[in-house]
Amino acid sequence: MSDENLYALLQSQFPRDRRRPCLILPDGRAWSYHDVERASGRIANLLVALGLSPGDRVAVQVEKTPEALVLYLACLRAGMVFLPLNPAYQRHELAYFLADARPGLFVCRPQLLALADELAASAGVAHVLVLDDLGRGSLIDAAAAQRDSFAGVARAGDDLACILYTSGTTGRSKGAMLSHRNLAANARVLCAYWHFGPDDVLLHMLPIFHVHGLFVASHCVLMSGSAMLFEPKFDVGRALLLLPKATVFMGVPTYYARLIKEPGFGRDCCAAMRLFVCGSAPLLKETFDEFRARTGHTILERYGMTEGGMFASNPYDGERRSGSVGFPLPGTELRIVDDEGRPVAIEAVGRIEVRGENVFVGYWRMPEKTAEEFTSDQWFKTGDLGSRDHEGYISIAGRSKDLIITGGLNVYPKEIEEIIDAMPGVAESAVIGLPDPDYGEAVTAVVVRRQDAQGERPSAAGIIGELKVRLANFKVPKRVVFATGLPRNAMGKVQKNLLRQRYLET
Ligand code: AMP
Repeated sequence: MSDENLYALLQSQFPRDRRRPCLILPDGRAWSYHDVERASGRIANLLVALGLSPGDRVAVQVEKTPEALVLYLACLRAGMVFLPLNPAYQRHELAYFLADARPGLFVCRPQLLALADELAASAGVAHVLVLDDLGRGSLIDAAAAQRDSFAGVARAGDDLACILYTSGTTGRSKGAMLSHRNLAANARVLCAYWHFGPDDVLLHMLPIFHVHGLFVASHCVLMSGSAMLFEPKFDVGRALLLLPKATVFMGVPTYYARLIKEPGFGRDCCAAMRLFVCGSAPLLKETFDEFRARTGHTILERYGMTEGGMFASNPYDGERRSGSVGFPLPGTELRIVDDEGRPVAIEAVGRIEVRGENVFVGYWRMPEKTAEEFTSDQWFKTGDLGSRDHEGYISIAGRSKDLIITGGLNVYPKEIEEIIDAMPGVAESAVIGLPDPDYGEAVTAVVVRRQDAQGERPSAAGIIGELKVRLANFKVPKRVVFATGLPRNAMGKVQKNLLRQRYLET
């Protein structure tokens, strides 16, 4: 068997001089590549010493620290399956994840130890160790007694590297199984497509329990032997301070929206930058345009998901378009089909399906769900709606479950949101469908007014009147409600399920 262990691939790209920095911490101290190798070697030895075998899961619910990232690498090296969990998850969610994934080890924050012990005992998890937000705890203490060197465990391409539970808003959360080959394929492509090189410095402010921060950002750095300014979270003040030392930034739309609100943010701050990448949720045109005007940089928007990493990206050298996620990445096939699986016409909205080495293996212990989400010829149904224009640029129209069917006609919320967002005095909007005895669903717009708006405040009647001129009548919201903000998850996605609940009750 040839070894397809992802860590071996990453390590083969580490700089020859292992003293070069890999992680630069908020206080300026650095972890060199040598440090990363030794620390992950110690933890890999510890995992083996605890009696874990390749294929065993290691569930991890900790804050973002260098040690947490190194724990991920240690799992790869030892052939264990890394299972990161959002620190926001509470008792009943944790109980579900532990019972479902049955890890051999659970690494938690010290304040949760009593709960973790209790849940681990009932789920049959043999070991619980602690890692705090300063990178200390029983995990590190136990690893300190281990040797630095570790002979990597060979893995086949299909062997699992990670399980990431999707933030599913309906039904049970699903564990997406990602293999060493899935992750390696995407890491190789992104590193080349976005021109990563050894002199890059990535400003890393994303969480590492999610595909964006853990795979997209970290793998690009490790695959190019470059360095990252490794910050615990996004903080706009820190971003202003650190961007002059960076060459690449990756963020969700909310980060960009916050940056452009800062009076001190502009060209000077971005003088050393070569690339700004955005994704995980749609980027508003207004943010895209304002960012370009302020910095001279054009944000590169890309599209992907937990179940396969990145599928599409705007070009590095060609035109990066607002409202588009660009072209399918090399190695990813992407098609847009109707409900019967037939390709739709150019510009028509349909269901996005993908196929490629990066596309995940299936959902953990859910063979029926997995079978449902793949076509007979192995295309994965992303659940996203989108269209392709004459030049091949792809645009995302939203999740298919957010599609509104009113009086038997399809309404794509994005089309209406874009028009409302461009109206004076509007900060942002979300269009949802609410049950209606007459229409099945009634189009409803939730609108956030701008705080700083000069002049007239938009009114419900004004918005509806304007939309009537621009759209077919069935698309015009029956109701416009105002809110002070839109509920978003950690990756900046608007939680339409919460909005539907909220306005159902009013
Ligand atoms: P996650 O698995 O949490 O990364 O969520 C993936 C979902 O986020 C995708 O299926 C899309 O619905 C959405 N998404 C990711 N990138 C974009 C983007 N650039 N524009 C619009 N939606 C996006």
